[in-house]
Amino acid sequence: MPELPEVEVICRGIRPHLLGRSIEKISHNGKMLRLPVPVDAMRLHLVGREIVEVKRRAKYLQIIADNGTILIIHLGMTGNLSFFGPDTPPARHDHVHLLLDNDLELRYNDTRRFGSLHILTGHEAEDIETTFFSTTGPEPFSTAFSPEYLVNLARGRVMPVKSFLMTNQIVAGVGNIYANESLFQAAISPQRPISTISRTSWQHLITCIRQILSQAIECGGSTISDFVNVSKESGYFQMNFQVYGRKGQPCKRCIAEINKSQIGGRASYYCPKCQK
Ligand SMILES: [Zn+2]
Repeated sequence: MPELPEVEVICRGIRPHLLGRSIEKISHNGKMLRLPVPVDAMRLHLVGREIVEVKRRAKYLQIIADNGTILIIHLGMTGNLSFFGPDTPPARHDHVHLLLDNDLELRYNDTRRFGSLHILTGHEAEDIETTFFSTTGPEPFSTAFSPEYLVNLARGRVMPVKSFLMTNQIVAGVGNIYANESLFQAAISPQRPISTISRTSWQHLITCIRQILSQAIECGGSTISDFVNVSKESGYFQMNFQVYGRKGQPCKRCIAEINKSQIGGRASYYCPKCQK
């Protein structure tokens, strides 16, 4: 499943091909994704409009038109975007094509169809943070994601820190692998009750989360080419994980054996000796 770094890399990859382009035509193969594709609303609000901004929020891509309309794309488990000439025959799981005025088509491909497309207009688009993203926490790279913010939310609560970090209302887009890796880097046990974590430790953990996500984004940026005429399986980048998937192997910091347990139903890898 594409996580925040993968979505960020896709965002950076498609942006230069979309900015300043107009959408000439929208096609859909008629199949439903996780939700119905709002193809009529897309045609009504996007055809003939120029794309003025392309950005990411949590694990959603936003393509913004000059009339304020926002096309939101969630990649689900297997969604992907790439550009092709209109003469290239559609691939089996291409669901939606946006034809641009430079004769390239942006194609949304999704084998398992867990992705979704949404159209926001008017007040919904203007107030996107209080409408579509009303239950989404701050971005991990934003100043709102601060030690004070976390100390306040954690006060009096015994939730394990790993479950806390993976709660979308607390912070956007820290998935299972990156939560495991960040907690290892910060030397904090994934089971640690959140009310026992000091302001200094939160600060350190925030720094580690940003480092791990940045490394993953850089790693993806260097492995993914230019998104034109390439069909790629989306998924995790081949990062060198420090703890994830290393059950029974020696810790890279202290050589104790890495443990695995389930926390909140998710696979959690940690060093029982140096993560406190
Ligand atoms: Zn260790």
